[in-house]
Amino acid sequence: MLDIVQIPVLNDNYVYLAHETESSKTAVVDPAVAGPVLDALEERGWPLDYVLNTHHHGDHVGGNLELQKKTGCQIVGCGSDNRRIPGIQIQIDEGDRFMLGKAEARIFAVSGHTLGHIAYWFHRHDALFCGDTLFSMGCGRLFEGSPTQMTESLDKIRQLPGSTRIYCAHEYTQANGNFALTMEPGNRDLLERMKEVRRLRQQDLSTVPSTLTEEWATNPFLRLDSPELIRTLAIDSADPVEVFAEIRRRKDHFS
Ligand code: ZN
Ligand code: FE
Repeated sequence: MLDIVQIPVLNDNYVYLAHETESSKTAVVDPAVAGPVLDALEERGWPLDYVLNTHHHGDHVGGNLELQKKTGCQIVGCGSDNRRIPGIQIQIDEGDRFMLGKAEARIFAVSGHTLGHIAYWFHRHDALFCGDTLFSMGCGRLFEGSPTQMTESLDKIRQLPGSTRIYCAHEYTQANGNFALTMEPGNRDLLERMKEVRRLRQQDLSTVPSTLTEEWATNPFLRLDSPELIRTLAIDSADPVEVFAEIRRRKDHFS
């Protein structure tokens, strides 16, 4: 079994502990800060074996060195971005496999938000740690990559099983959903989901993870062939990269 613990930190970041119960190995995904991670580990009596980073941004690697120093854990990250991952010891990239005890993660390169962004898919456990690539009803901004790269990256994720739980790194769901409604005001799945999201957020509860099935139905960045979406955009081309780029451009200027 893979036990996953969500730790909310900073304004809207989620850090995750992943604990493989058979071998009792534990990893933390994208530790923005060390303190709350050390507390959560101590509460459960889990020693830390690995830091798994998805990309180099400070709100994902900020706790790396302190955790390494205090726990002796090993730091895992993208080999092609090794100079920007503090303390990196194990370098991985597209097509690699990483073993957390008995649990295997397949590694995808998902450039776009940054170059050298990776995702960890624990396929037998239906869990994807995708950092700032796919969000619930949204996707990461293009700080370093191109629309072509991000479209390809999202497409890799889109092809996973619908039961995959999307452990993204931020609670952006409600704002993303408000934007998605401007793209597809007639999408009934989206309207239904937003009711639930508003209910959860009113109580300050997490909306993450969602499942990939929910994202297929509601996330505009995974719905590049939706007729309603293409009508809203009023662009001539139905080329997925151009549709993606136009949605991303509008989202960048939305509130
Ligand atoms: Zn980021
Ligand atoms: Fe982030």
